[in-house]
Amino acid sequence: MHSCAWWWVGLVKTRPGICQRKRRFATREAAEAVALEADITLRAYKCALCKQFHLTSRTKGLRVPRMGLV
Ligand SMILES: [Zn+2]
Repeated sequence: MHSCAWWWVGLVKTRPGICQRKRRFATREAAEAVALEADITLRAYKCALCKQFHLTSRTKGLRVPRMGLV
C-alpha cells in the first residue's frame, strides 16, 4: 500500500550529464514500480530535459507532503 502523496510533481532541472547517466522511465508508473522494489527509498521526478522520469535516492530538498497521515 502506498500513497501517491509523496510524488514530486514539479519539473526538475536535471543537469545534462545526470540525465544521460540516469535510467529513464517513460511513465511515472514504470518508475514507481522500480522504486517500490528497491531497498532504499527512491523518489521519481520528472526531468525537465528529457521529459521522462528519473529516480533519485536524494530526498534532501524535496518536500514530502504529509497528506494521508491522520
Ligand atoms: Zn532526464
